[in-house]
Amino acid sequence: MTTAFPGGNPSDPGYWEVIFDVIPFPVYVADSTTFDIICANRAMLQRVSVRPGDKCYAAIYQQPAPCTFCKMPELESGAACGANYLEFEHFNDLDDRWYQLRETMVAWFDGRRAKYSIAVDISALKEVQNALAEAHAELALKNRRLNGALASEQEVTLNQRNFLAMVSHEFRMPLSIIGGAAQLLEIYTNGKQEAGEEVAKIDRAVHRMSDLIDVCLADDRLTSAVAALQVRRTELAPLVEDICREKAELGGAERLRLTIGASAAAMADPAMLRVAISNLLDNALKYSPAGSGPVLVSLDGGPAEARIAVADHGPGIPADEVERVFEKFYRSPSATGTKGAGLGLYIVKQIVESHGGRVQVRPGSSIGSEFIITLPVDPEPAD
Ligand code: ADP
Repeated sequence: MTTAFPGGNPSDPGYWEVIFDVIPFPVYVADSTTFDIICANRAMLQRVSVRPGDKCYAAIYQQPAPCTFCKMPELESGAACGANYLEFEHFNDLDDRWYQLRETMVAWFDGRRAKYSIAVDISALKEVQNALAEAHAELALKNRRLNGALASEQEVTLNQRNFLAMVSHEFRMPLSIIGGAAQLLEIYTNGKQEAGEEVAKIDRAVHRMSDLIDVCLADDRLTSAVAALQVRRTELAPLVEDICREKAELGGAERLRLTIGASAAAMADPAMLRVAISNLLDNALKYSPAGSGPVLVSLDGGPAEARIAVADHGPGIPADEVERVFEKFYRSPSATGTKGAGLGLYIVKQIVESHGGRVQVRPGSSIGSEFIITLPVDPEPAD
């Protein structure tokens, strides 16, 4: 099909046929009126056997008439000629491959109008495209499922919150009525000692019940409260003193001993920090048997960190539980005789960590346990 090239003449068809042979993709030229093949390059001949004069539709596509997808009419209408070509993708049933075709109308040397067609095998590209499309569809599906799961999780959380808010309200109302009635009783009984003691018992029970509601609700509030901590410079000594005073009033001053070393201030939400420290004190009092010695509370401010420790003379925490006691709903097997929900220490950890601090427990044996909260100190503001 080729003629001698060096020194070839561009006005000689053979010159172009040599150039076509260098192109690594199938190329053919066909008469636009008769569909006769004028020439085909080497890459084309390696795929199909075509000879000049064969009908392109018969030789290349084994069709009895011009192919339905043939662009000859469009090319004839002048839509594309010369450098302005038509480009389209075509799947060839005969070899099961995808091609990208570029076609244009050219004037052949003998004056015939002819279609110049070049085909690039893009099957590999198509496979990658399909794999990508599949992966994309799969991702979209997973995303939809995840969004669905998230929406129902949010709905469940919202329902839980509404329920807890309702429960909280329902419990607090009668409690405040009982508390109010107890105070009235004290007035009506004219401060009689026996009545006063009974009233004090009612008062303590109301406080305990109220604390219990706080603990139950704290986990739910925790999420939103931690997200919206009302942080301000907080002096730790008055806060710890106040908590100890409150606990001593409820449980007996002889059961608590407070030591303040150097005081310090921290950037903290005092209400949340109060919950954390109170939980440690409540546990220490709850788990130490009566007569086991006072719960020792201490505060020590250092240059960078403040340390609040609560030590008791109770059963202590076994070494293999020092991490687990901070898990949500974890209760030690040895705690079965004591009331609790397994939330107290979990809440302590969440609160302390949300303040950039940490809480640890020293495993005890006969000496009980010691819980230590460490908080970053807020340095004294410069005058
Ligand atoms: P709860 O006290 O409601 O069970 P917590 O989260 O406060 O839940 O405590 C988790 C577990 O850690 C308790 O069940 C108990 O076994 C153990 N624990 C907590 N504080 C003490 C303590 N001061 N002494 C001994 N064990 C404790």
